[in-house]
Amino acid sequence: MSIKQNIENIRNRIKVAAGKAGRDPDSIRLMAVTKTVPVEMIKEAVAAGLADLGESKVQEAMKKSPCLGPGAGIKWHMIGHLQTNKVRQALELFDEIHSVDSLKLAQEIHKRSQEKDRRTPVYIEVNVSGEGTKYGISPGALPELLSQAGALPGLEVKGLMTMAPYSDDSEKARPHFRTLASLARGNGLKELSMGMSGDFEVAIEEGATIIRVGSALFEGFYY
Ligand SMILES: *Cc1c(COP(=O)(O)O)cnc(C)c1O
Repeated sequence: MSIKQNIENIRNRIKVAAGKAGRDPDSIRLMAVTKTVPVEMIKEAVAAGLADLGESKVQEAMKKSPCLGPGAGIKWHMIGHLQTNKVRQALELFDEIHSVDSLKLAQEIHKRSQEKDRRTPVYIEVNVSGEGTKYGISPGALPELLSQAGALPGLEVKGLMTMAPYSDDSEKARPHFRTLASLARGNGLKELSMGMSGDFEVAIEEGATIIRVGSALFEGFYY
């Protein structure tokens, strides 16, 4: 299967899941997660129409982003844990940051964004499942972080992000996605960054507005 065919296949699955939930498939963005994927493959995905690319490491994005060139209309999304000492570099590369999980990080993004006269769109990462291995703040700490981050003009909180615990059964992810959607609604946030290769259909049924897909797109080239 070519990447182009994989994209077509995923787009169809998005349509079906959106249809099931009575949603417009165009309201769901497909982010290609390109970590460990060679630049040539990423170029293929971009040529096939994908414009949202996700990386989880600043270092890796630094190597890849110049190879893809400016002006391609590409949007880079930071989806991995971000250390405050890497924020300045991250802002040179990424358009949006999906992994804000502390006030300290939000403050640094605010400060560095203001230096560049920009307002950075961010998502707050919530550890809905409570798994110890996951980054993200606890649902209970969300209201306070949202009110503090909301006071920082250098960033714009667009929504919430989560990762469901790994499982072969995508239905197991549903309650976590549902909780995230309810947290977003309760706080007046529209965007939901949730759903990966194994569970994006369930995420769409529960309201995802941007799904982050790696292995289903790049298959053998992944990891
Ligand atoms: C790797 C990664 C993905 C993509 O995972 P797949 O299961 O390969 O689709 C999505 N989100 C985050 C945060 C990731 O690190």
